[in-house]
Amino acid sequence: MLVNAKDMLQKAREGKYAVGQFNINNLEWTKAILLTAQEQNSPVILGVSEGAGKYMTGFKTVADMVKAMIEELNITVPVAIHLDHGTYDGCMKCIKAGFSSIMFDGSHYPIEENIEKTKELVKICAEKGLSLEAEVGSIGGEEDGVVGMGECADPDECKSIADLGVDMLAAGIGNIHGKYPENWPGLSFETLEAVKGKVGDMPLVLHGGTGIPEDMIKKAISLGVAKINVNTECQLAFADATRKYIEAGKDLAGKGFDPRKLLAPGTEAIKETVKVKMELFGSVGKA
Ligand SMILES: [Zn+2]
Repeated sequence: MLVNAKDMLQKAREGKYAVGQFNINNLEWTKAILLTAQEQNSPVILGVSEGAGKYMTGFKTVADMVKAMIEELNITVPVAIHLDHGTYDGCMKCIKAGFSSIMFDGSHYPIEENIEKTKELVKICAEKGLSLEAEVGSIGGEEDGVVGMGECADPDECKSIADLGVDMLAAGIGNIHGKYPENWPGLSFETLEAVKGKVGDMPLVLHGGTGIPEDMIKKAISLGVAKINVNTECQLAFADATRKYIEAGKDLAGKGFDPRKLLAPGTEAIKETVKVKMELFGSVGKA
């Protein structure tokens, strides 16, 4: 069932669990995540980056594929299709394409401009029934080969954005996209508590969920995180399983080269990764 992310995240925040956002890249990814959500009776958010949208030939293709798959697979758990780190233009395109949720990443703008653009999108999303995620304090990660350590958001700026009427807020708390470096100091719970103190009941979003130790994930959820983004971990699991298939020479045996066979182990690996994350986040059985 395609829905926006508003209710599922409110319920998660109240119930002290988090809904996973799993990014999709193609049909196999989408199918693996939807089937696992249904099997686990868990709400789920399908994340689509602008790059992945382009890769899949456009946001309309993605939205239509997800809607058709929900119908063909009889997916009854709540599913949101969400633009990840959208530009203003990307947000407008996804609203038109039929997404149920968008993230506007204005974290690289001066705060006044982030507020201005977020305010416009709050209005449009309210009219069209979409949920909206905003970001304050950029989230670290590898850019041009340099790994940033992850900023900590200013709690007052978080409040200014939260008060605009967004449905969820991503605040940098030292988290990073991609693999975490050896010398990463960990999440800043001090920042998270300060942000929570300012924004109250607003569901908070933790980006860069790959490789954050389990105890930190659980603590973050207890402090108001209701959505956790996972992307790299599914990619690593897919690549690992596919490599093993090929290294074992299975593509050379019989019809092992058939893409439906070649991509099957990777797809299974995504399912397993998603299942483990849903268990960790506590969203199993919460659909
Ligand atoms: Zn992110």
